[in-house]
Formats: sequence, C-alpha cells, structure tokens
Amino acid sequence: MIAMNYRGPRRVRIDHKPYPKILHPNDAIVKVTRSCICGSDLHLYHGMVPDTRVGSTFGHEFIGIVEEIGSSVEKLKVGDHVLVPFNIACGKCAFCKQELYGNCHESNSQATAVGGIFGYSHTAGGYQGGQAEYVRVPYADVGPTIIPPDMDPDDAVLLTDVLPTGYQAAEMGGIQKGDTVVVFGAGPVGIMAAKCAWLFGAARVIVIDHIDYRLEFVKNYANCEAYNFKSMDDPVVFLKKATDWLGADVCIDAVGADAAGSALQTITGKKLLLQAGAATALHWAINSVKKGGIVSIVGVYGPTGNLIPIGNVVNKGITIRANQASVKRLLPKMIEHVQAGRINPKAIITHRVPLEEVAEAYHIFSSKLDNCIKTVLIPPSVRT
Ligand SMILES: [Zn+2]
Ligand SMILES: [Zn+2]
Repeated sequence: MIAMNYRGPRRVRIDHKPYPKILHPNDAIVKVTRSCICGSDLHLYHGMVPDTRVGSTFGHEFIGIVEEIGSSVEKLKVGDHVLVPFNIACGKCAFCKQELYGNCHESNSQATAVGGIFGYSHTAGGYQGGQAEYVRVPYADVGPTIIPPDMDPDDAVLLTDVLPTGYQAAEMGGIQKGDTVVVFGAGPVGIMAAKCAWLFGAARVIVIDHIDYRLEFVKNYANCEAYNFKSMDDPVVFLKKATDWLGADVCIDAVGADAAGSALQTITGKKLLLQAGAATALHWAINSVKKGGIVSIVGVYGPTGNLIPIGNVVNKGITIRANQASVKRLLPKMIEHVQAGRINPKAIITHRVPLEEVAEAYHIFSSKLDNCIKTVLIPPSVRT
C-alpha cells in the first residue's frame, strides 16, 4: 500500500509500505477513505515533537471502511463505515472509566501523561497513522464509531479531532452566559472553538491570529470579531482596552508550541529548543484574561518546560484547564450538533489532495499558501 513517510524535519514523501496486520484480537484494519493534515501534524513535520522517528506515517484524523477484524471484535463488522477518534483508548483503565479517553493508561507504554495517538510519534505510543491506504486500529470495540448514513464523509472526518477539540476548548473555559471569550489561533481548532463558544452562552467572541485570510474566514464562519496581532503594539493591551481594562472572562489557547509573535519565544523555543516550542499564545492568554478568569488550553505542547508567567497565574487567581479532547465522550453531542445544522464542519475544508501528493500538501499547509485552512487527503481507491 502507499502511505505518507516521514524522512526528517520538513521532509515527507509517499512510499510503499507493508499492508498492516492484525496484531491483537481486538484490532481492526481500516481502509482509509479520507484523512486530514492537522495543525498539530505540523509540530511533527517541523521536528518539534520528541521521538518522531524517520519512517513513521502521520495522520490521526481519518475515516474509512472496516476491512478486517480481530477475533474478539464484537461491535464492528467488515464493511462498516467508521470514524476513528484520534485518541487510542482501552476503554477499561481508571482514566477511560472517567471518560478521559485522551489520557488512557494502557494505550501508550510511555504514558505518564498522554495516551496513544495515531501517527503522533513514539511519545504518543508509536502507532502508525491514517495518511495511508490502510491503518491498524487497536481497541476496535472502543474508539471507532459508525458514521450515520446521512452524514457527509467530509463532516465525519472532522469529528475525529477538529470539532470535538474546539468544542472541548470552549467547554473547559466554563463559559457563562454573557462572557467575553478570546480565542488565540484561527486555525481549524480555533475556528471551531470560536463557533462553539456561542453554544455555551458567550456574548462576545474575539479571535486573534496573524494570518489575514484565516481571520476573514473565522469572522464570517463564527460570526465573531477577528484581529491581526501584527497590527497591534501589544495584543494584551489591545484586549484589556477592548474589555474595559478588566480582561476577558475566558481565554482559549488554540495555538500550542508553534506560535509566532514573540522573538524571545521563537529563539528559545523553536531555534534553540530550550523550551517545548514557543508558548506565545499561552503567555498572551494568561495576561489577557481577567482576575479569577479561566484559561483553556488545547494547543499542543511537548513534554519539556515552557516560559510562561506563572506568577501572574497565581496573583490573578486564574484557573488553567487543559487536555487533549476526549473525542469518544463528545461524539454523540457533536453528531447531534452537525445533524441539527448548528455546526457545518466541512466548510473549513479548502483543499482536497490526492494522497500521492502528500509532500506538496504539507508544504502548502505549513507555509499557509493558497488560503489553506484544512487539507483532506484522498487515497486512490476512493477516486476511481
Ligand atoms: Zn488533529
Ligand atoms: Zn484506557
């Protein structure tokens, strides 16, 4: 089969790889019909995630058709159309029992923090991802969810990460009726977080980024205010001024380790790797939220430390909430929102690219060319 193959920072290509095998009775093999490139894949692509091994296939956002099942699989049958949450979860450990499916204790042998994730380095379990024709799906009775027959596959693939992650960002923000919510990052997850903030009763939603076409998109899609931090002297002062000098009720970091906007953070985090990337967005979130406010983090950071103003967190009495989205927990609600027409995830897809052109697709997405917001890779079998 063909699959995306990581060759080192900023180098990916298509290669032939062996067809995946059932390794455990609860595995399934899924024939991929669509996979996405995620903003967090760029952290891998840029070489910022520890233990990203040459030869890995990325891709944690995919849907497909069950091709083969292990002997103990009960909930799936060959031919089922499934969407597969990016978290790999056993369903039985103490954390899965609390519905913390992103923190499964069994799916990642290195797991002191994160559970297993498809195609997301050996730090997240070393699983192969779905930017391929076929993928092995462990714990097949837990994560994979039958796609409702009336659902567009382009919507379904965005339920594997983007929409639930944006929704959980808003949920962790504890948004109260009338709140002002600031979202840092107008990528796919920030766009969904801004959209979902209204569902929790926000009165005002402000998005901050530095890419004009994305700001324009989110302004229309999420019906919010959107500003370019490059046009400001200091985004923190701008946001204070915009909120009667009190600060926002809730700030959401939908950027993570690859942030632009601060020379100090870029040099220490991205050039010298003295910290887990550049925590610029988180820095701004902490300093822009009001006293007693909540900072919700869904942006991805590596395991090493970051330069963040922890003194301000203490002195302002800020609550910080953070996690990988618990996709399985949120799926029933997300499916309902999409079917009711409250959220139209597929509207963010700007590029549909043959899987064979994965190198070009990464380049376009990474360099923010061609007004790219979300790229879907289509394997050859779906195109014929
Ligand atoms: Zn993702
Ligand atoms: Zn578990």
